[in-house]
Amino acid sequence: MNFRKIGLSCVLVFFLLPLSVRAQEQAATSKAKPRVIIFGVNGMELDVIRPLILKGQMPNLAKIVEKGAYGKLRTVSAPNCPRVYSTLFTSANPEEHGVTGFLVGGITANTNMLKREPIWSMLSKSGISVGMANVPATFPVMPVNGYMISGMLTRGKNCEDGVLCAPKLSEVLGGDAVYPKSMEPELLKNVGDFYIDCERMPAAADLKGHETEVIDKWLNKVQVIREQQTKLFDYLLSNHPTDFTFLVQSCEDRTGHWLYPIAPYNVGYNASINNVRPDAFPNQYVAFDKVLGTVLKHVDANTYVFIVSDHGIKPLREFEEKDPHAHMDHEKTTPVIAKHDFADGDDVPGSVFVMGPGIKSDFRLMGLGASVYDIAPTILHIYGIEQPKQMRGRVLTEIFGTSDSKVALQK
Ligand SMILES: [Zn+2]
Repeated sequence: MNFRKIGLSCVLVFFLLPLSVRAQEQAATSKAKPRVIIFGVNGMELDVIRPLILKGQMPNLAKIVEKGAYGKLRTVSAPNCPRVYSTLFTSANPEEHGVTGFLVGGITANTNMLKREPIWSMLSKSGISVGMANVPATFPVMPVNGYMISGMLTRGKNCEDGVLCAPKLSEVLGGDAVYPKSMEPELLKNVGDFYIDCERMPAAADLKGHETEVIDKWLNKVQVIREQQTKLFDYLLSNHPTDFTFLVQSCEDRTGHWLYPIAPYNVGYNASINNVRPDAFPNQYVAFDKVLGTVLKHVDANTYVFIVSDHGIKPLREFEEKDPHAHMDHEKTTPVIAKHDFADGDDVPGSVFVMGPGIKSDFRLMGLGASVYDIAPTILHIYGIEQPKQMRGRVLTEIFGTSDSKVALQK
């Protein structure tokens, strides 16, 4: 046997391997597992964040755009949070995973309805530590190799079926919001009694005649919730670091539904509401970027960061008045002026921003080639776990490895 030849070919193979494979091999040979942080932003709308990035008002996200890969993320039809998040973590379509909307058979969507294995379960089984907080449709929490704190659709005081509400941790009813249960007193002591999910939107009747007052009070509450979430995320990342961490914010989308900066020609325009705080919605992303800054303090060169949005949000359209989804809102009382559950999900794509070891820098994904189905397979790939056959998505191979091309080819 010619050892010299083998040695040479090994060297060649080593250099010819795409960076991602090499990163994985390095991770496998050294003891450290890759670290992944997914930060979900509910309904992040590219139309709104692009000008903010240009104006320098989202410096942390801008840094990820510069250092990583980003683009639109194709979503499912009539997208809403429980429906899309369940697709994000199972790579199955809503009919397959079972969480088709806020209500399933008249009951608020919950984890007992999941018919497909979610990614946190697969990772846990492979010995990867998992930490999750505020992820929609994760109530009641499920056992993981780490911790899980539930998010949107957590049930509690003043929550009717299918309606969004914001119970405090101490007000949760009908299941556990924290796994392991022993972590709950620890969080109450060190983070405080935080609100789970974002504030519900005010009713039209409460707004009438008190618009400015109600809007400002609501926005202040949203900021309180965001500060609590920041404190929670910072506490978890500092005191309970995990290989895989999944955190989500929801106040941006909630604000967009009724405070999207629309013009008088848009459907549902009401000067007494829509003229009050036209910056309220863009300001949510400026505030999100500050939370991102806190999360990024916990990121080193070996951490993959995914900023993922399940869908966008757009103003209502007059010609769709007959659409059964038009003017629908979570409570059917709020004057909603923007929405995301358009029958054609391609009208409101989500978005993805990724940086980390072996991820191309300043790379743009064109078209709708990447989808919400692809997130779970890509995470599994980073951990060297083969994707189960029933997963519909694919590994986003085009974001890995170095390349001179800064734009992905459109398929
Ligand atoms: Zn959503």
